[in-house]
Amino acid sequence: MLVKMDEILIKARREKYGVIAVSCFSLELIKAAINAAEKKRSPVILNINLKYDFVSEEEDVELFLYMARERARRSSVPVAVNLDHGQDYRTIMRAISHGFTSVMIDASAKSYHENIAITKEVVHTAHAAGLPVEAELGCVGMADETFRLENKYTKSAKTDPALVKDFIEKTNVDFLAVSIGNAHGPYAKNITPHIDFELLTEIAEITPVPLVLHGGSGTGDDNLSKACKMGISKINVGTDLMEAAICKANAGYQENQNKGRINFLTNYVTGYQESIEYYMEVFGSDGKA
Ligand SMILES: [Zn+2]
Repeated sequence: MLVKMDEILIKARREKYGVIAVSCFSLELIKAAINAAEKKRSPVILNINLKYDFVSEEEDVELFLYMARERARRSSVPVAVNLDHGQDYRTIMRAISHGFTSVMIDASAKSYHENIAITKEVVHTAHAAGLPVEAELGCVGMADETFRLENKYTKSAKTDPALVKDFIEKTNVDFLAVSIGNAHGPYAKNITPHIDFELLTEIAEITPVPLVLHGGSGTGDDNLSKACKMGISKINVGTDLMEAAICKANAGYQENQNKGRINFLTNYVTGYQESIEYYMEVFGSDGKA
């Protein structure tokens, strides 16, 4: 069933498990996410970012959102369609008009006061349309510093717990993405990030608002499982799913390239789905639909 993200995350926060937000950049991956959720009887969030090329035209966004919403509507488990990293007010308005069931405004790289002002404006509009909003306090940067510099991403900055209450009260935001040692994209080989659980405990005590962890890939199963029990209710995962999918697709290609039965895309989607199922168990959302 198609639902709003608060219906999924308020229950998750109360019952101390996490829900995966799956990076979806094609219809096949929407199918992989929903199939995994149905198999594991878990809620799932489809994370769609309007920055990517495949939705550069309005017609593409319209088509993609129609497919996401329809596939979600037909599902037997709760599925939310969330705008990932909305950069500005215009993007948020586009997302609302295209039928997202929640939006994220990311003004985390701006000053604290600008972040409040932009988030507040977005919450005002989204709430008027009946949609919940995620915002980010502190800044989750890129795990790979080279990528960060080349692509002009802002450096990571941990969430300041002293600002959490003020930020939530002033903006009335529904979900808060926090920076506690996590980062986007792949970490350097064999490096597991140090998650600041003391900081997470402190933030979780300040607010009952469901907390969000961006950059779930490569964070380590134990870290992620622990974080979910401590107040993280939504975990964004992309890179790990893509890697699992590429591995599976490559293996299938190596095996079958001489037999004329190459099914690269099917294997890619199966690999994506299997990795989502795996994370649903790590986050404890299996059986919670
Ligand atoms: Zn993110």
